[in-house]
Amino acid sequence: MSGWVSIVGLGPGRETLVTPEVREVIDQATDIIGYIPYVKRIAPREGLTLHATDNRVEMDRATHALSIAQQGARVVVVSSGDPGVFAMASAVFEALEAQPQFADVPITVHPGITAMLAAAAAAGAPLGHDFCTINLSDNLKPWEMIAHRLRMASRADFAMAFYNPRSKSRPHQFGQALEILREECGQDRLITFARNVSHADQTLNTVTLGEATEEMADMRTVVLVGNSATRCVGPYVYTPRSAS
Ligand code: SAH
Repeated sequence: MSGWVSIVGLGPGRETLVTPEVREVIDQATDIIGYIPYVKRIAPREGLTLHATDNRVEMDRATHALSIAQQGARVVVVSSGDPGVFAMASAVFEALEAQPQFADVPITVHPGITAMLAAAAAAGAPLGHDFCTINLSDNLKPWEMIAHRLRMASRADFAMAFYNPRSKSRPHQFGQALEILREECGQDRLITFARNVSHADQTLNTVTLGEATEEMADMRTVVLVGNSATRCVGPYVYTPRSAS
């Protein structure tokens, strides 16, 4: 039987947010490959091998997926949220580009609900007008590029969503990001810290940039910053659909 690789998004956490299409693909798999906490979300069954690996080995994981698929395995590579958002889909295509011997392996990508959309829905509609998304991790790009993009996005009056805002290995860059945002957007701009969205212990905290501190974010938080028109109505945060 010929193998394939499917790269799927498991959504932000809640099982009801896994799409039926992703469930179907997982049901057909012989092998699941991914970061330990995501592989843990897959129910073990007869004939299914679970390959859970540590973080930061994306390229090894991608090559492993392509190579066992070439030998006939039906491989599902799992990401949280959406696999195309700071996740495994690009890693698989990078591995394919570097290793043309895998060109005959069929690859499909199946979308999932990404963290910022689940967070925005939980808060109301803070991304209701034009917005942009920035990964604040400097693992794969220089901090200067991140700082520049923060300034440019702020000046263009985009609402913004930030992934990987703060980790133990880089605890202070998020403070610098907040400084840039305060300089460009002022103290009163709304910022929402959405932690463990769609899990039982989800928390949402909306404050102004003047009140925001770096400790409000960690690696399980996605951060949403409003544009200049973003406001609260009752307990909800929303951005009007037109420029004000
Ligand atoms: N592919 C994933 C993102 C992976 S990057 C997606 O589409 O959602 C990892 C970052 O995503 C985390 O540092 C955090 O910023 C965000 N994230 C992922 N799941 C989250 C959740 N349930 N709640 C809040 N943030 C989450």
